[in-house]
Amino acid sequence: MRHFLLWFVLVAIGMEVHAQTPLIESAETVPAASQWLQPGDRLQVRLKGQPGSKVTFLGNQPMTELDAALTKGQRGIYQGTYVVQPGDTLHNRLIIFQLLTPDSLQATAQSKAQIRFLNPNELQLAVTKGALPYLNYGLGEDRLGGAKIGYLDSLVQLHITGRVGNLYRVQLAENQTAWVPQEVVRLLPPGGFVPTSLTGSWSVYGDSLYDYVQVPLEARLPYRSQLLTEPTRLVVDVFGATSNTNWITQRDGLQELGDVHYEQPQPNVFRLVLNLKHIQSWGYSIGYRNNTLVIKVKRPPQKLQLRGLTVAVDAGHGGTNVGATGASGAREKDLTLSIAQKLRHELEQAGARVIMTREADVTVENVDRVLLLRKANPDLLVSVHVNSAGGGASQGTSTYYRYVAFQPLSVALYDEMRKTGLQGAGNVGSFNFGLNGPTDYPNALVETAFISNPEDEKRLIDPAFQQQMAEHMVAGLKNFLRNTRAKGLRGWLQHEPAEQ
Ligand SMILES: [Zn+2]
Repeated sequence: MRHFLLWFVLVAIGMEVHAQTPLIESAETVPAASQWLQPGDRLQVRLKGQPGSKVTFLGNQPMTELDAALTKGQRGIYQGTYVVQPGDTLHNRLIIFQLLTPDSLQATAQSKAQIRFLNPNELQLAVTKGALPYLNYGLGEDRLGGAKIGYLDSLVQLHITGRVGNLYRVQLAENQTAWVPQEVVRLLPPGGFVPTSLTGSWSVYGDSLYDYVQVPLEARLPYRSQLLTEPTRLVVDVFGATSNTNWITQRDGLQELGDVHYEQPQPNVFRLVLNLKHIQSWGYSIGYRNNTLVIKVKRPPQKLQLRGLTVAVDAGHGGTNVGATGASGAREKDLTLSIAQKLRHELEQAGARVIMTREADVTVENVDRVLLLRKANPDLLVSVHVNSAGGGASQGTSTYYRYVAFQPLSVALYDEMRKTGLQGAGNVGSFNFGLNGPTDYPNALVETAFISNPEDEKRLIDPAFQQQMAEHMVAGLKNFLRNTRAKGLRGWLQHEPAEQ
């Protein structure tokens, strides 16, 4: 075992200060964020200081001065890597750097970030909390947040093997990790085991509203789902689960679930493969009832027509969230509300029931919109926004979807929106936007036009053009329903009686 703590104390006592010309200009971990690392992980550091020196960190770990070719000619940039070894201990400490110049001047510096080396023999577990916990693929961040794997239920047990800043690393399986934001988990006291479970025998059935698959587990394990097409199927991986499923009873009353089976692609990854009967999926949700995984599969609406359908309309932004603004002073939040209200009117005229995520100039967070919609359980969602880009050259309409199974809705809307005379700016997939996140119902985002483009802006602020866009969105929804009807059931089921 290396005694990093003891070393830390000795260096701290012997620290010297060189005020006039700092021998060390800066020194930090890379990334410059507090981290938890486990054996095998790399602690990376960078220091800028007096060129030609001997620089060390974490006791006597050497740092290398980078060749000027790697630093655009800058000298005195040092980098170091330390691979955490079994037995290493470090308890949320700053990293100490030491520099020794050729003429024996010395300086020390410390990182701002705190580092902890995890002891793999004392697991760090956590459970999800809050209304909408989720997993991310990596550490990326932008205005849409990190790329999401998907939502989880609450009280799902996670094995935490690292941390960078406010994200914890979750070990899902041997070679699969994810990241979870600190605010959606609660850390558990030490002493737990890696969450695992054998799977029980499934129950597959339908009630008057949905089809269900229930898989008994011994713990709430994390999962990841993918709604795939050609053929239409839902694939759910449960991490930490191993099959002890000896039969699957498929009861009467199923309407949307076709053949269901499982695979065990890795020792601790249990994969459910649920074939769906219709080419167009209408969504699904996953959660736990006690420790039983419950997958609820939606059926197509009884009639594929707007009359009687529940359509959710989301007016983007609102209240303190203004969104983009145009050269004329037009604000996205006002335009989206105005278009959404016209869309609502047209949908109601067609006999649809409409749910609005906001009906006035009020602030509603996207998370709250998603939760509101989850409760309202619409058949479809259209989110209305106004696009913006620097420079003013970009123009036209575009639509967005997250999951390939919901692409047809966004394409139908796109094709109709272009008929308003707006240029086509594309149909965009895998879009990591909050309201494209739900799997519960087909959803699409319409970025109506660019407020940053003078020509588009003129149209956006024109009430007659807003009306035209609303009418074309309704036409797009009708086309989607018509196409869905035409596609019908999957090929191998085509002999079944067609529905109206
Ligand atoms: Zn927007």
